[in-house]
Amino acid sequence: MRRRQFLHALAALSAGSTAVSAGGLASRALAQTTATRTASSDVIPWRNWSASQICHPQRRMAPGSVDELRELVAGTRGVIRPVGSGHSFSALVPTDDTIVSLSRLSGILSHDKGTMEATLGAGTRLSDIGEPLAARGQAMVIMPDIDEQTLAGSIATATHGTGADIGSLSSFVSGLKLVTAKGDVIECSENKNPEIFKAAQVNLGALGIVTEITLRNVAPYKLKSETVWLPIEALLEEADSLAARNRNFEFFYIPFSGLAIAEFHNPTDEPVSPPQPPEESDGLAAMRGLRDKFLKDPEQRFAVMNSAFKDIPPEVLVAPSWQAYVAERNTRFNEMEYHLPREHAIGAFREIKELLETRFPEVFFPIEFRYIKADDAWLSPFSGRDSCSVAIHRVYDEDYRPFFAAAEPIFKKYRGRPHWGKINTLGASEFTGLYPRWKDFKELRQALDPDGKFLNPYLAGLFT
Ligand SMILES: Cc1cc2nc3c(=O)[nH]c(=O)nc-3n(C[C@H](O)[C@H](O)[C@H](O)COP(=O)(O)OP(=O)(O)OC[C@H]3O[C@@H](n4cnc5c(N)ncnc54)[C@H](O)[C@@H]3O)c2cc1C
Repeated sequence: MRRRQFLHALAALSAGSTAVSAGGLASRALAQTTATRTASSDVIPWRNWSASQICHPQRRMAPGSVDELRELVAGTRGVIRPVGSGHSFSALVPTDDTIVSLSRLSGILSHDKGTMEATLGAGTRLSDIGEPLAARGQAMVIMPDIDEQTLAGSIATATHGTGADIGSLSSFVSGLKLVTAKGDVIECSENKNPEIFKAAQVNLGALGIVTEITLRNVAPYKLKSETVWLPIEALLEEADSLAARNRNFEFFYIPFSGLAIAEFHNPTDEPVSPPQPPEESDGLAAMRGLRDKFLKDPEQRFAVMNSAFKDIPPEVLVAPSWQAYVAERNTRFNEMEYHLPREHAIGAFREIKELLETRFPEVFFPIEFRYIKADDAWLSPFSGRDSCSVAIHRVYDEDYRPFFAAAEPIFKKYRGRPHWGKINTLGASEFTGLYPRWKDFKELRQALDPDGKFLNPYLAGLFT
């Protein structure tokens, strides 16, 4: 993480504190998983990043060519689920039948200097794109805040970064290839099979297995990243105007501090900063210690945190875009993130903050707030509306359900659409009301996969 001064302030704070374990938190029970657990002892379980989803697949396949993949799909009985890096929190991947990774179908396959497009294997990790793409004179327009995800996994859930005028990764896809349930290959773009394209841009892995993705890119660019501590109320007043004036703007509110870390990225020609020594911690263990110490005394918690963080000076770094976007996430967590119509987002954020600070003193993870531009993919949470996202987190070994259950009605009240890869409890009838093209997606999915080969229990609940 780049917020070095913050980490140093936290380290100083926790050095001076004796963390006492708080009542019910002393024995932190593992959060219950939402996945079904089978009794199979001879099958190595598959887990997602936070271990909130667990399954026992009978087969894990990694085909080395599209032909191998076609044979595999056509010849498989039972459910097949494509998997990327397992960084989704929702139950998109789990199956006890067959899991297919495209890790061997990766890398840059071709690029076009004229159109600034590049075609990549669907299993390419985002971390493997930046440098080779720059060597070909291109860079991705936007990236999320980590780069562990695969490209196919990212677009399947409309993974996004932040920027009032910048859409999700799916919005920069100009074409893709898909292996369908029968083992056929379908190519689609704005001009070729355009209906399938609009559905496949955000597909939940429910239409088939994506093998190639073409991205619209830009020339390589450097970003100047500035991290500034601001009082949350002042920041909320200015947020929309800051978003309009900066290429990328987001903020993290630190609960019980009254302060937020605002992050800005803007293009620059300044020289790249010298490499930073790695930080040993992301500061969250220290924040947990402060939570334990001051759990029953929110006023004291506020006073200590506010005075420790309020004078942290801004930090500035310059890096190639693909490095600038990405942070370390070395504390595992579970996450709920809703995408809200832009005009309601600050109001929703205020209500979530109020909820956390009045009813959930055990929560210490920051609340994240980002901007995303509208697009027109059928199942994009940003379809037809400029949005802001509000994300809440609980450390992986504490039960996320009470806080998330209390927060979700706030998001729903503002017609929020959940991030497809994050925790939510919405069902088919709610999605039907939130997505004008839901029925079209459902019918197209049915036509491409009439036997439901790609449907695990979660997806079957949504689409059948
Ligand atoms: C620490 C962390 C940070 C994150 N940061 C962000 C962020 O900044 N912004 C954001 O928007 N999200 C973020 N996410 C969420 C993450 O980007 C999404 O959940 C993403 O979908 C994960 O990609 P993956 O490669 O791990 O795919 P998986 O989670 O393995 O799969 C996701 C979906 O993709 C499908 N899929 C995978 N491969 C294929 C294929 N070849 N063909 C068809 N379907 C396929 C799967 O079936 C599934 O439906 C974060 C998650 C974590 C854990």
